[in-house]
Amino acid sequence: MGVSDNIMQKAVSDSDPELWQLLKDEKSRQRKGLEMIASENFTSLAVLQCLSSCLHNKYSEGLPGRRYYGGNEVIDKVEILAQQRSLEAYGLSPEEWGVNVQPYSGSPANFAVYTGLLQPHDRIMGLDLPDGGHLTHGFMNAQKKISASSIFFESMPYKVDQQTGLIDYDKLAENARLFKPKLIIAGISCYSRTLDYKRFRQIADENGAYLMGDMAHISGLVAAGVIPSPFEYCDVVSTTTHKTLRGPRAGVIFFRKGQKSIDKNGKTVMYDIESKINDAVFPSLQGGPHNHAIAAIATAMKQATTPAFREYQQQVVANARQLCSSLQGLGYEIVTGGTDVHMVLVSLANFKLSGAKAEFILEEVEIACNKNTVPGDKSPMNPSGIRLGTPALTTRGFKENDIVQVAAFIHSALSIAIEAQKLSGPKLVDFKEVVHKNDVISSKIAQLKEEVENFAQNFPLPGYEEY
Ligand SMILES: *Cc1c(COP(=O)(O)O)cnc(C)c1O
Repeated sequence: MGVSDNIMQKAVSDSDPELWQLLKDEKSRQRKGLEMIASENFTSLAVLQCLSSCLHNKYSEGLPGRRYYGGNEVIDKVEILAQQRSLEAYGLSPEEWGVNVQPYSGSPANFAVYTGLLQPHDRIMGLDLPDGGHLTHGFMNAQKKISASSIFFESMPYKVDQQTGLIDYDKLAENARLFKPKLIIAGISCYSRTLDYKRFRQIADENGAYLMGDMAHISGLVAAGVIPSPFEYCDVVSTTTHKTLRGPRAGVIFFRKGQKSIDKNGKTVMYDIESKINDAVFPSLQGGPHNHAIAAIATAMKQATTPAFREYQQQVVANARQLCSSLQGLGYEIVTGGTDVHMVLVSLANFKLSGAKAEFILEEVEIACNKNTVPGDKSPMNPSGIRLGTPALTTRGFKENDIVQVAAFIHSALSIAIEAQKLSGPKLVDFKEVVHKNDVISSKIAQLKEEVENFAQNFPLPGYEEY
């Protein structure tokens, strides 16, 4: 079997028509729909080209200059470029910060931080998942330790205030004094306000804990300088690169290095976390780096320093604010009363519509979002809100006036849902049945879906034309 063999040089469209059709179907779905899942984005052609390049073929365990395999002269240059550009994108000095660009994604990056800085069963505190935290911040429930971050470490969550929807820092401080965590995580997956990193730092210092920032959702906004940066106060900062940052599906860890402080006796204390983090990524947790993804990180980080990127991120926030005020104008309740970032958390409790029904009806009309718990929800299994994000639509060129139209589409869909619920009663299965089988409802859905698709197709998508 060699290159002359057909199978090695045929395009997927020729060699595998069945799969090719699925690739085209997905592209068409992305083109026709309104993508409002807050963690998603459309990456650039340059990133996609890196991802399908020959770099994919190379094994390069270890770090640049210290590899376990030969033939890495070029790969070393690629990884060093990705490191340098990652530091530049966040305005970090290489004397004070180092970076590991090898984590396969955000979850492995976080586990590498814990593996490097903690002993098994050391204590961590993160924002609870139903309150807007991430699984990897120690999530467990009364029945089960769900995330490995709660299986191998002891986790205690902090929460948002039920009334305001804002992080309850006082309670975190109080519980941290009792729990004495070794590491506190400042990071969110569903929270529409900026974080008080200074306060997190004080609480960490009071307990001798590391402070880790997980900026997975907001790393694009941070790079563009449109929201406060975690770097001033954190010891470690992890991120994904495929959300607001708009790069490849991958993860990055930044860590402090150099002088930490001067102790009582006037001696300088140095940070000692560089090798802990690097060794945790490889060899503790991972094998060969994904060099195609690392190249894509390099080019995404270069994009992140441009004026166009800054304008994009400003527009992301402006669009989220517009979405908020449009929905508020239509009678919807927004958790925390607004947004500083790229997402909006809508509570549907006053409409007596569950998040699951809202997510379902929106999907029926090609608007993608996800159901989400809101403060005060009794059960995390039956959340009464939806999370909406603007990064992907903004990449397609949406401006505030387009978002006004999007809010109107959402309102139309949710109004149909309320009508359907009157016929179906509260159960989700009955509701779905009515939506699909009732002629009046299903024809309204079909009409709205067509309007949404016609609207969405006016906006370009980056990447390859067909797939
Ligand atoms: C998305 C996310 C992650 C995990 O990233 P994956 O690439 O999905 O593994 C970690 N932390 C936060 C805060 C996130 O939002």
